Amino acid sequence: MSNRTTIASLSQEVTTEAEAYAYFERLRWNGNPICAHCDSLNVYFIEPSNGVSRATRTGHMSQRRVWRCRGCKRQFSVITNTAMHGTKIPVRVWLMVIFELCSSKNGVAAREVERKYGVAGRSAWFMLHRIREAMSHDDASLFVGNVVADEVYIGGDPANRHASERHDVRRGAGTDKTPVVTLIDAETGEARSTVVSWVDSVSLRDVIRENVDMATATLHTDSHRGYIPVGRKMAGHYSVNHFAGIYATDKTNGTNKCENYFAQLKRGLKGTHIHVDPRHLHRYLGEFDYRFSTCDMTDTERLADLATRVAGRLTYKVATAA
Ligand SMILES: [Zn+2]
Repeated sequence: MSNRTTIASLSQEVTTEAEAYAYFERLRWNGNPICAHCDSLNVYFIEPSNGVSRATRTGHMSQRRVWRCRGCKRQFSVITNTAMHGTKIPVRVWLMVIFELCSSKNGVAAREVERKYGVAGRSAWFMLHRIREAMSHDDASLFVGNVVADEVYIGGDPANRHASERHDVRRGAGTDKTPVVTLIDAETGEARSTVVSWVDSVSLRDVIRENVDMATATLHTDSHRGYIPVGRKMAGHYSVNHFAGIYATDKTNGTNKCENYFAQLKRGLKGTHIHVDPRHLHRYLGEFDYRFSTCDMTDTERLADLATRVAGRLTYKVATAA
């Protein structure tokens, strides 16, 4: 792998399906292939009959790189039991799209994938959601130290929406916008965003309790009154008054970190995705959280990280559930 991956270098380096499989093998296994069924390391590569491809059960020639486990005797590939399992989309396209999601600030739209890689619209949409699922944090660890919290309202023009959606209670407070609360760990830079029904002291408390060790952490917010009750239960709470034009004091760097993040999130959702269904908003937030949290990584490092995360399979049922 080159030191600095670009979409151009990647498409030159990986030109075939076999090369795409081998690329994922390097990223995920790092020279130690592991059985997808029983986690055994006692596995061997099955050489394709003609050196490159092998006949499948249907007689179709496939470049899928197949391994066999000496323990459970079963076959597997680097994509078995991952988010790519059973895909009809070429693995090379998965690699390219994963990299695009890693490296573009605003994300990637399904119609872009459709146009660039010839993937049917529905498949492109589903592939992107599978990758977003892998980007979403599943870490149960709590933030400690200094935590910045802020809220943002995501949503477009109600005139562009279906009539039945306009009064959806999830958008709250009589608007068509979906409230989102974002917490950022000031030390690690990790961001976690949560869709809430409305912003009040109860929902703010719930989001913070879910993600923060309240006994030891110090909260940094704007002057939204909803933070006051939960702030009292924490080790400390500093707020700055945006209305007075004060964004930082000697006690707090305020919510500037969050403001930068929200600016990026709004730009991305507006520019790339135009209308995000509130039912799927949490997946887009996971994507933006991921890129923000890993902003110190190079695109190459992020690709390696995300490729290893694309291990939990998201079924179609989960992706379309309300
Ligand atoms: Zn096995």
